[in-house]
Formats: sequence, C-alpha cells, structure tokens
Amino acid sequence: MQEIVKTKSTLFETLQEEVHPDVKRINHTRYTVLNEKQPRRILIHGAAFVITVNGKDKLEVSKNRSIYIVDGKIKEVFSPRKKTVPNNKVDLIYDASKRTGIVITPGFINAHTHPPMYLLRSSMTLDKGNVVDQVSKMAKLEAQMNDDDFYLGAVGDFTEEQKNGITTSLSHYGVFEPVERAARVTRQQVINAISAVSNSHPGNSPEMVEKILKNRKKYFSHPAIAVHYIHKPTVKQWQKISGLVKKYKTLLTMHAAETESWVQECVNSFGCRTVEAAVKLGIANSQLILSHGVHFSEEEIALVKKHKIGVVHLPTSNKLHKSGELNYPLFVKYGAQDQLILGTDSVISKNSLDLLSEALQMRIMHQDRQRVLYEDLFKMMTSQAADVLKLGKVGKILPGYRADLAFWKLRDRGFMPYNENEPVSLIGNMITHGGRNIRDLMINGEFVISNRMHNLINESQLMSKLQESHMALRKRIKE
Ligand SMILES: [Zn+2]
Repeated sequence: MQEIVKTKSTLFETLQEEVHPDVKRINHTRYTVLNEKQPRRILIHGAAFVITVNGKDKLEVSKNRSIYIVDGKIKEVFSPRKKTVPNNKVDLIYDASKRTGIVITPGFINAHTHPPMYLLRSSMTLDKGNVVDQVSKMAKLEAQMNDDDFYLGAVGDFTEEQKNGITTSLSHYGVFEPVERAARVTRQQVINAISAVSNSHPGNSPEMVEKILKNRKKYFSHPAIAVHYIHKPTVKQWQKISGLVKKYKTLLTMHAAETESWVQECVNSFGCRTVEAAVKLGIANSQLILSHGVHFSEEEIALVKKHKIGVVHLPTSNKLHKSGELNYPLFVKYGAQDQLILGTDSVISKNSLDLLSEALQMRIMHQDRQRVLYEDLFKMMTSQAADVLKLGKVGKILPGYRADLAFWKLRDRGFMPYNENEPVSLIGNMITHGGRNIRDLMINGEFVISNRMHNLINESQLMSKLQESHMALRKRIKE
C-alpha cells in the first residue's frame, strides 16, 4: 500500500517538478521558495479576499489581505499596503494577488463521516430497488473489508474532503489504527471516534477504547468514542462509557433519531426517546455529539439546548435514505441553532464529500419554513463547528489560530460575477454554486495541495488501488 504515498519529501522538491520548464507552468506558479528546508514561516501575499468569522463572531469579507504564518499558526493578518515582512523572516511566499487573485477561507470542518466506507462507493446508488435491501447488500461488502481496505478507503475519503476545502473531519467507525494511519499520511485533522460497542467489530469494548484514550498523546489523530446507536450498549456498558468521557474529557458521538424505528428501539430499551435517554444515562452534555436528530420531539430539542448537546445535520443523507427532515424551525425556536453543524456522512449517503453542496441542501430543505442565511451556513462549516467539536483555535483566520486554510481561485464561475461594492455576495455565490475544488490547501501551516495537486498522495495510484480493492471485495462475496 506504500505506493499511494509520494516519496517526494519536501514541498520544494514537489514544486520543482511542477515548475519544470517541460511542464510550462513556470509563469503560473504562485510559490517562491526562499528556504529549501521544510518551510515553517510562510507569507501569503495579498489575497484578493479573506472570508472569516471575526473575533466578535461576525462574518467578515476583507479585501487585499496578507497572512503571515509561523510554525503552523497564523501570526498576523494585515494589509500589504501598510506593512511588509522582511525576506529573512520568510521561508516561502505564496502570491495570492496575481491573475485576479485568490479567495482564502478557513478550512471547512466535517462533523460526521465514515472514512473507510469510501471503498464502497457505487454499492448503493439508490436508483432502483429499496433502501433497506441496498443497505444490507452494502453491509455484506463492508463485512469483507480488511485493515488495508479500511486504510485505503480512509485515504480516499480524506483526500477527497481536502480537495473540497475540508481540513478537519470527525470519523465515526469501528476501527482506529487504519484511520489513524490515513490521517497521518494525508495530514487531515481527524477526530478519530472509535466504536465502544460494535456488531461488525465484536472485539470492540469500552476497555479497548480506554487503551487508546490512555495513549492519546502518541497519535496523530484525536481519539474519541463512538456508539452506533444509543440502544446498542447495555446500561452497564453505558456506565463504563460515560466514565471514560469524564475521565479523558473526550467527545462521545452517536447516530440519533435518524428514523422513527430507531427511536422506537430506544423506547423499547430505556422507556423514553433518544435525548431523554441520554439525560437518564448521564451523557447529556456538551461533549455529546448526536448525528441526524431527524426525529427529535419538541421536548428533546429543548433538552438539546439545556444540556448544550451538539447536533450534526446531514440533509443529503436524510433525503437519500428517506429518513425525513430535521425540525430546524424548532431548533431556532429554542435557540439551539448554534449547536447545529454539518456533516457529509459516507459516500454511501452522499456521493461527494463536500460541505458547500451540503450547505445548499440545508438551505433548500428548510427555506419554506425557516430561511438559513448564507452567513449562518458559513459559520456552521467553520467557527461554529470548531466550537461545538471543542477544537480550540481553529476555524477562523485570526492571529493565534491554526493555519488551516482553503485557497479558492476568484476568477471562477463559483464566484464571478459578484458585486464588488458588496463582496459579501461572494459567500452566497460560493454556496449556491455547489461543490468545487480548491486550488491549494494548507493544514497546520503545511501546503497539502499545491496547484491542484496533492503533495503527499499519488492520486493516480490511489484511484487504481481503490478500483482494484473494490473489485476484490466484490469477488470475495461471490466465493
Ligand atoms: Zn453516519
């Protein structure tokens, strides 16, 4: 599986190849390398626009801004007309001003995905037949997957998210190590939530999860706890899990009230609905992240607000699986809309791992009853997601924040034409145009994608490997 990881060790080597005269892109590069070692001091010069939520929690679109980054952190954001950084304090310059320029946003945050399932694309196209049959066919394929498959799928998932401007993902899955390895090679920031109880991975247990949590400092990803559904663990197992959440101050995530039949399973086990059961079990607090929440009652939404529970909205997945629609107007009524963030789910539920199109889907889903402003959608993908997932200084382009940045070409149909007197119109254009690829991507101060090419993963090899392994899974089922 080593062949999918590029052997070029530095960005400089990669860029040298890019600007080779044979490639005839020399005039097109925006990179000037001043220090050939791993560049840790980066100047992004004169971005056409920087779009971010500011320190007062207001969305801001600023024209002509430079960003100075040191050791993975944003040190300064300033107007290049008023200030310069001397060359001896810079290892790499990225010119974001030329050819109409670049729009920079914070890297987006995807609050719910199942990365290894990337290998199962096409196993559930939902064209003909019924959803339940197709899910069970997909599960048969999934049951054939080994650790190499999980890893390969996760690399496919993370790199696709990166191309769509996503720099942080919450992975909810039954395996930890393959997701950890994929995070490390792609540099994706990952909350690696591992199932504490799992039908498909019967070896998983709260004790196994604790071993991982104990060693959390040595991992690249950030361990957390997942539970498929609230009715899966026994009351005794829940005691152990809620103990771990408190002891290790970790996030706990689970699917919740996706369909009314799952709600009934909860009622059968605990005598009450999902959020009420979470309160009973002592897990209802801001460390709890519930995905879907389609069938929450009004009382439950009031409890979500009261206990500061995070809720991940997955409108595309809910439509494709005919699960229903989250009651957004009630979230607004109870003032819980700030606890709502967005997720893609796996490629089984939304074929493109992209949040811009998910934001559009949310807008369309609720517009007859409650309009969701573009500004609020942008927050949900950036600063609000960072708050709900307790990521610290992530999701804004401000001094002290982690340099997770997405670079979008301004001269693009996803932005142009826009109203120059009101550049905030760029945000509506960006969201309603749907998903599109970034030009460059930075995670923790490192360029992971440059000139639309992944710097760490050989994508042609990756596609071939995914195809080969996907067909091998199908073959294993027939044997
Ligand atoms: Zn899911």
